[in-house]
Amino acid sequence: MDTAPGQPWHKKLHWRIAIAMLLGIIAGLIGGEPLADKVGWLGDLFIRLLKMIIVPLVLTSIISGVASVGAGAGLKRLFGKTLGYYVMTSLAACLVGLVMVNTIRPGVGADLVDAEVERMPDLTVIQSPVDLILDIVPENIVSAAAKPNMLSIIFFSIVLGISISSLRQRYREPLLNFFEAGFEAMMRLTGGIIRIVAPLGVFGLIVRLVGTTGLGAFKALGLYALMLVCGLTIHLFLTLPLVLRFLGGINPIVHFKNMVEPIVMAFSTSSSGATLPVTINAVENKVGVSNRVSSFVLPMGATVNMDGTALYECAGVLFIAQAMGVSLGLEQQLLVVFTALLASIGAAAVPSAGLVVIFIVLEAVNLRGPQVELIVGAMLAVDRPLDMYRTVVNVFSDSCGAAIIARSEGETGVDETVVQTS
Ligand code: ASP
Repeated sequence: MDTAPGQPWHKKLHWRIAIAMLLGIIAGLIGGEPLADKVGWLGDLFIRLLKMIIVPLVLTSIISGVASVGAGAGLKRLFGKTLGYYVMTSLAACLVGLVMVNTIRPGVGADLVDAEVERMPDLTVIQSPVDLILDIVPENIVSAAAKPNMLSIIFFSIVLGISISSLRQRYREPLLNFFEAGFEAMMRLTGGIIRIVAPLGVFGLIVRLVGTTGLGAFKALGLYALMLVCGLTIHLFLTLPLVLRFLGGINPIVHFKNMVEPIVMAFSTSSSGATLPVTINAVENKVGVSNRVSSFVLPMGATVNMDGTALYECAGVLFIAQAMGVSLGLEQQLLVVFTALLASIGAAAVPSAGLVVIFIVLEAVNLRGPQVELIVGAMLAVDRPLDMYRTVVNVFSDSCGAAIIARSEGETGVDETVVQTS
């Protein structure tokens, strides 16, 4: 999605965003608040565009993903294993994020919001698990979409996807085509917004950030970025290798070596979706997983299973709460974990999707308003390299899932040797 290969470096999106950031810092330092007032709207525009696409993106992404799975006993078993793996590893990632943010506490004392307008938001308190379930099931899907209540939308999308997958082919196919086409269109729109508006939006957000709070913001963000990198590293090099070894009996080093190409691709595109063809190729031809398993686990995994994104949502929201001086109790942190899991399922496999869906998790604990948007804007400034890394984690987890599930289905020759590219 970035740019066609062979284009000059300064036309590549990540460079344009980096340049916009740098210019934003310089302009913010020189122009101060007056300039921030003038160009801040560019940032607002970008955030509005991102919010605009959340509902249709999540709806089409989940419905098409779930509906394409299909019915039948073998598929049901595969479905169960796949979902079990997705949930287990994403939850593990969330927990790593939770531990990191609670230990390092990068948001405490972070000078990211204007102290004068700071106020304690009302936090959502779950009375009981029954309340939570009732809250997720919408009375009216249109009003849930209008709010938007993302948990309800995700729930509705999953059950609709399941029901579409069980329809007769005559009905299933047109519906599946419709939602797949809708999803493609939303991916295109997301890509367009990011390509065209992101540099300007980043510029506006950074000018406002630096113009109103000074450079202190970046010090706080440095710790935040470091905390995320540590968390992602633990998941990539410790949790997932342990899962590979103990659940699949697979040598993690061999798996890493067989997955070098998708890892490099994920890092440079920041998109699990764009990396998918390379992932499928490596998982089938190098790792040695059958097409039956890989064609089932990988495409759905690209949109549904995002460990890196889940970790980021969890840690990011708790960071924002810390920066606002809001302390979230255990119950609310668990709500963050649960919502982060769902948000990572709902995030599209495109650059910055994780940043788009962070609003879902923020909403769940009633963190909203201009200060929250300001901090999300600040996080956007350091998001690109973090996005590259979390995409690597997302893609790697999918490939681990494919290998483990293939082994559990009795396939032999999975990750037995390192296969060199011919
Ligand atoms: N860029 C990530 C991916 O495609 C999603 C995210 O932004 O977290 O996997």
